[in-house]
Amino acid sequence: MSELLLVAREVTRSYDVRGHAVLALRPTSLMVQAGDVLAVTGPSGTGKSTLVSILAGWDRPSSGTVERPARTVFVPQRLALLDTLTVLDNITLADAGRAAEVPALAAALSVDHLLERFPGEISLGERQRVGLARALHAGAPVTILDEPTAHQDGDHTRLVLDALTSLPGDRAVVMATHDSVVVAVATAVVQLEAAVAAS
Ligand code: ADP
Repeated sequence: MSELLLVAREVTRSYDVRGHAVLALRPTSLMVQAGDVLAVTGPSGTGKSTLVSILAGWDRPSSGTVERPARTVFVPQRLALLDTLTVLDNITLADAGRAAEVPALAAALSVDHLLERFPGEISLGERQRVGLARALHAGAPVTILDEPTAHQDGDHTRLVLDALTSLPGDRAVVMATHDSVVVAVATAVVQLEAAVAAS
């Protein structure tokens, strides 16, 4: 059996909205092993973003547990690039020691011509691919992404998916997506369904 990299058991998330409990994520369990490409999918509002944020440790579940035996890196929908650093420095940030690997990675994601620009000088789709390059360069065993193709056209979606599905076999990908093209490349799928009001 492959190495276990991430486990979520019966994870839920509810919010208090002006005194009313709103259930954002129904109880969800999953496990991620080396080599997995896991798609978290479902209609809008079913908790995809909520779940991947919890898996990444950027949010806490209201109940249930998450175990992270391996390091994770997260690309949130808002990307969180550092505006004062060039594209090159953003990508290299996590591991400057392997900066020599950046040109090939940037070329694979078609951002190699943008390395000297700042995030404010490139398009949203380009920023999203830079965010992905930064995460992949970090080299964590688990890369978690929220809607990684949301701002990509067909050709660039293919670049993103090629990069995510050609990682070494000791790494894994978890991605929230509503895009059937993305779900099609997954090795496993978690299908979320609409939550109901908790009270
Ligand atoms: P998805 O990614 O599947 O579109 P989200 O995880 O963004 O879904 O949201 C799931 C549900 O949680 C939605 O109904 C949303 O309105 C609700 N929600 C998200 N964030 C908050 C918040 N801060 N306060 C209250 N409700 C929220």
